[in-house]
Amino acid sequence: MANFWENKTLSELTQNEWEQLCDGCAKCCLHKVEDEDTGIIYGTNIVCQYLNTETCQCGNYTERSILVPECVTLKNDNLEQVYFMPSTCSYRLLAEGKPLPQWHPLVTGHKDSVHDSGHSIRGKVISELEADDIMHHLTGEWE
Ligand code: SF4
Ligand code: SF4
Repeated sequence: MANFWENKTLSELTQNEWEQLCDGCAKCCLHKVEDEDTGIIYGTNIVCQYLNTETCQCGNYTERSILVPECVTLKNDNLEQVYFMPSTCSYRLLAEGKPLPQWHPLVTGHKDSVHDSGHSIRGKVISELEADDIMHHLTGEWE
């Protein structure tokens, strides 16, 4: 029998399946900068102050959209927002008709595989509360 993420569209997922699909990478909690002249978006290594950078979990998940208005709560009814997610984001991959990567916790059966494989932000970021000028923290074009 095929796995749920292989035989359903995003809009067909149950709430539980939707939550399971998140790989826990926390890349969506990184700050981004748009070049006003070119429209190009650059990633940074600065992360939202509410993120626990060890667990990669939001420290205030239920109130996140109130505390951080630009925090995107992806749902079935705002799927167009998925293209602002990083290219490895599970929701974006499925929206683009791509498979989940081999390191995804649903594929490996281990929740830490996203960290062990180096695909989460763990150990690579600085809190917005500690960072200096954001232009010193650019990591390249956002993909
Ligand atoms: S980028 Fe996507 S898969 Fe990664 S934590 Fe954010 S919502 Fe989950
Ligand atoms: S409020 Fe939570 S989910 Fe939103 S960007 Fe900050 S840490 Fe991430």
